[in-house]
Amino acid sequence: MSGLQGRVALVTGASQGIGRACALALAAQGATVALAARNEAKLAEVQAEIEAAGGTAAAFALDVADEASIKAGAKEILSRFGKVEILVNNAGITRDGLVLRMKRADWDDVLTTNLTGAFLLTQALLSAMLKNRWGRIINISSVVGRTGQAGQVNYAATKAGLIGLTRSLAREVASRGVTVNAVAPGYIETPMTAVLNEAQTTAMIATIPLGRAGTDADIAQAVLYLASEGAGYVTGHVLDVNGGMFMGG
Ligand code: NAP
Repeated sequence: MSGLQGRVALVTGASQGIGRACALALAAQGATVALAARNEAKLAEVQAEIEAAGGTAAAFALDVADEASIKAGAKEILSRFGKVEILVNNAGITRDGLVLRMKRADWDDVLTTNLTGAFLLTQALLSAMLKNRWGRIINISSVVGRTGQAGQVNYAATKAGLIGLTRSLAREVASRGVTVNAVAPGYIETPMTAVLNEAQTTAMIATIPLGRAGTDADIAQAVLYLASEGAGYVTGHVLDVNGGMFMGG
């Protein structure tokens, strides 16, 4: 299939997990994919994987927690490809802890990476997207941004914040052919969740009607849909991909 032939996509956090899966899926549909993250060796592996499958990708060392790095990275990507039409704000971290014990640095680091990073990168790329009169911005939120989660006030605040950002920006840019949506994954097996022990994993799966953890490919499929031409009338939406663990309104 080649539904995204000629499109340029940028995926943050493309070095592993959900971001890597999104990059592979977008490239398989014909998009040229800019891979952004801090770990250059892992980005090179993802680039090689995409190229081996016949796709086109390029790696960019970019730290979404660093405004200068975001600005420089966005400039470099735009000068390399001339445009970015599909932006997947996926990079994210956790620094869990109960609220009374949470260090200010753990609050700040998560806010800076997960929320401010998405804001700044979007801001850096939006003008080019608006000029082009076609764009897809897809923010990776989380089920915990909808439900809350004990021990994750920082992380859940960023994921709920991304939903507010998504809906506000969707209203700002709709008239210029740019859609803005969020995907809210449930419990997905990636390096981020590999830190959970067996008891925690079993307890989590017991809350999922579909009876299994999600895969990074499950999320990539949702991102592919929102990036597609066919999703052109969908904006400001939060797409839950969670096996039914939360059925939101
Ligand atoms: P992961 O395996 O830990 O991957 C996180 C990615 O983010 C890595 O590629 C990492 O790359 C990148 N990243 C982290 N800090 C960064 C920074 N400062 N600058 C640039 N890139 C940075 O996590 P994942 O499970 O794939 O999660 C991806 C997204 O999905 C996150 O936003 C996460 O919150 C969300 N999500 C995950 C789940 C789940 O169950 N796994 C559920 C809901 C939502 P480098 O280290 O190379 O920079």
